[in-house]
Amino acid sequence: MPFLDRKKFIEEGDLVLVYVSRTIIKPIYVKSGEHFNTRFGSFPHDSMIGLEFGSQITTPKDRGFVYLLQPTPELWTMSLPHRTQIVYSTDSSYILQRLDVKIGSKVIEAGTGSGSFTHAFARTVNNEGNLFTFEFHETRYEKAKEEFLKHGLNNTIITHRDVCLNGFQIEGINSLDADTIFLDLPSPWEAIPHLKNQIAINRKVGICCFSPCFEQVVKTVECLQNDGWIDIELTETQGRLFESHKTMKRDVDDAIKRLKYVKEKQREGLELIKAGKHPRKDNNNDSGLKEKDYGFNPFGRGKRIIEGEEGFDWFNVTRLESEVKTHTSYLVFASKMPEPKRII
Ligand code: SAM
Repeated sequence: MPFLDRKKFIEEGDLVLVYVSRTIIKPIYVKSGEHFNTRFGSFPHDSMIGLEFGSQITTPKDRGFVYLLQPTPELWTMSLPHRTQIVYSTDSSYILQRLDVKIGSKVIEAGTGSGSFTHAFARTVNNEGNLFTFEFHETRYEKAKEEFLKHGLNNTIITHRDVCLNGFQIEGINSLDADTIFLDLPSPWEAIPHLKNQIAINRKVGICCFSPCFEQVVKTVECLQNDGWIDIELTETQGRLFESHKTMKRDVDDAIKRLKYVKEKQREGLELIKAGKHPRKDNNNDSGLKEKDYGFNPFGRGKRIIEGEEGFDWFNVTRLESEVKTHTSYLVFASKMPEPKRII
């Protein structure tokens, strides 16, 4: 299945992420006879079967088009049905590299929630690793289990469990031998003491606790210290988009020249009207001159000036994009060294 392996052609039953626009990506399971409906038109699933992932398809009258994308954890995060708050790719990608998660890693995750991060973990540890994920809400557990099965996450075992009360032990497995722990729970400090017998002893273990409130962070840090975790660090990811532009320098002399120019144009227009002529049509004196040719910088409307164009004075300015999603939670990282260096 595409979350773990790549696939070239779309087949009946495949999950396809239909890209309608930058903000609309819809997951569908391809089923012969069904249609995917958008405001641009209806796309029969039959027309998708046999196409390569990434193909563009159009409606019969070419009124609209969509792209049929291969699922990836990042696209799934953008399109999945939300049952809870989710971890977005800005955080998950940072956490994965910070915890050094790789093919073959063994991961414990709680809670599973909507399974957003689960897909990223599953893809990263791949077929050689294991992911043990825990969720105590029954409906969310059932839904996630069904999705993981459909998505072929065969390295993932989901367990219906309150990990704060009953820990991480799985029947038939002595120790989960995990080297990576991710806790996205309201009270990670109640779950951390249960990790003792489930983490690897022959290699470094990393943990990340994802908490929106600072009070949670304080309790988590105390608990990690008491349980012998070291290198405890708090970080947060802040997404910022900086746009840099050039802005035209404006001075008073230019403003005065501009006002005189506008007044002169008005006067010419009024004269044409008095003479019974159309001021726009008949005053067709578009000489191709730009404002700079008249000796001033254009304020407001004028002939089109390209940003940074020679003949004008420009400032370099930087603007912050306010729409970008930024801090979501605090990330507390810590680690344990392999025994015998381990404190406990
Ligand atoms: N990380 C998930 C994602 O990316 O989709 C979202 C996790 S959601 C914010 C937190 C989940 O933890 C909820 O689904 C909740 O039911 C579950 N949860 C809370 N306390 C729990 C506990 N003690 N044991 C297991 N699951 C728990």
